[in-house]
Amino acid sequence: MTYVVSRFDDLRASLSGTVVTPEDPGYDEARRVWNADIDRRPAVLVYCATTEDVATAVSFARGSSLEMSVRSGAHSMAGMCVGDAGIVIDLSRMNDVEVNPEARRATVGGGALLRDLDAATQIHGLAVPSGEIGHTGVAGITLGGGMGWLTRQHGLTIDNLVSATVVLADGRVVRAAADENPDLFWAIRGGGGNFGIVTEFEFALHEVGPQIDLAMLFYGMDRAADALRMARGVIPDLPPDVSFQVVALHAPPEPFVPDEHHSRLVFALVAVGFGGEESHRGVVDRLRSALPPLFELVTPMPYTALQQMFDEGFAWGAHAYEKSLYLEAFTDEAVDVIVERAADMVSPMSAVHFFALGGAFSAADEASTAFSGGRSPRLCTFIIGMAPDAGAQSAERAWVRGFFDALAPHAMGTGAYVNALGGDDGHRVPSAYGTKYPRLQRIKAAYDPENVFHRNTNILPAP
Ligand SMILES: Cc1cc2nc3c(=O)[nH]c(=O)nc-3n(C[C@H](O)[C@H](O)[C@H](O)COP(=O)(O)OP(=O)(O)OC[C@H]3O[C@@H](n4cnc5c(N)ncnc54)[C@H](O)[C@@H]3O)c2cc1C
Repeated sequence: MTYVVSRFDDLRASLSGTVVTPEDPGYDEARRVWNADIDRRPAVLVYCATTEDVATAVSFARGSSLEMSVRSGAHSMAGMCVGDAGIVIDLSRMNDVEVNPEARRATVGGGALLRDLDAATQIHGLAVPSGEIGHTGVAGITLGGGMGWLTRQHGLTIDNLVSATVVLADGRVVRAAADENPDLFWAIRGGGGNFGIVTEFEFALHEVGPQIDLAMLFYGMDRAADALRMARGVIPDLPPDVSFQVVALHAPPEPFVPDEHHSRLVFALVAVGFGGEESHRGVVDRLRSALPPLFELVTPMPYTALQQMFDEGFAWGAHAYEKSLYLEAFTDEAVDVIVERAADMVSPMSAVHFFALGGAFSAADEASTAFSGGRSPRLCTFIIGMAPDAGAQSAERAWVRGFFDALAPHAMGTGAYVNALGGDDGHRVPSAYGTKYPRLQRIKAAYDPENVFHRNTNILPAP
């Protein structure tokens, strides 16, 4: 015991960041992650302050045979960023965002959150396409792909990645870009945390907002099938500056929800306009006239507010479980399953999200990144079960599994978005990547032959 403590003391002394062990008062807070279902007890957590700290922590972990996990925003639903008895390399203090508005570039620390990125870029009327919840980590979301409200306009987060600084398994620090370590640059754009620890990202920026137009049209379960079929007709004709999603949820007790509909199961058709009111109104009028909603919220709002609109609904501390697949469209068969299974959702915290992907997402070259699942227009489907405690969560987990099993026969093959694979989905990783998997395995063998970075959606090194 004394031996272990003294080794952590050496580590502590060699870092500009800090170290937390089970003996420290902040240990229980430090080992928490977003998903309260995850309750793991690492041997040590290293809060890195610099790239050198990260390299030191990697060398230390390897020298002491401690299993490594890497944590930025702590939003891996499967809790891959923390393991029992291992070392957590935490980058949350490396969260600086520097913006060069003339060059349209942002340099982002490996531990920044989406809200840090949005705040720093929107001051200049700029943005990086990313995800939809402000407290998610830039690193995890980027390395798996990164989809959100701007994906139809400007592609995935990885489509806007210019370069990255990576600490490799052997402790070396390298730059990955189109003209430097191009195989590594290809692999980290979709291949997750398999190849090293990214301490800095460089992104291209786009003019966005500051105001956008939001429309949420809500339909009761009696009209849900009609609403989904109507969405099927609208999605292929969407203007390029309008994003579209469908969400099944319990109506929240918000002022825009009439009292009699609070807590009722509803389907929301959500259209976000980035191209001015006129283009947005065209879509909203079409939706309204095709199928009048039960109630609606149509309003301009700041882009930064859109990016935090669901933050409370997905706050830290819930017990969560998810499964995901791609649908080509809301076919009649898929609609029947979705409506039937959504009706069994019990927890008011659970939801099913369908991101309509197309536009710039589909214009990007399929082969240019390691992104899993293909680029043709599709609906990325997230079935999310959430509850306030573990007891209630077991029913939601069963609901998610049943929903997934029923919908899987209607999915687009076996491709899947790796950032939304559940904790028991490790076996789906090869098929999620499909024909890209062997190339990923070869790059893994070149950069991490011993698979020291394996607490992730793991790609096995080629033999
Ligand atoms: C509430 C919520 C909302 C979400 N919304 C979206 C969304 O809108 N769009 C979307 O595309 N996805 C979304 N996701 C999925 C999200 O992309 C993944 O959960 C992602 O892994 C989270 O990244 P993180 O840094 O917060 O997580 P962490 O748990 O810190 O990291 C997850 C994994 O990423 C790797 N990793 C993290 N940091 C680094 C690093 N610096 N270098 C190398 N590897 C690293 C590690 O393998 C780690 O295990 C959401 C998830 C949650 C829980």
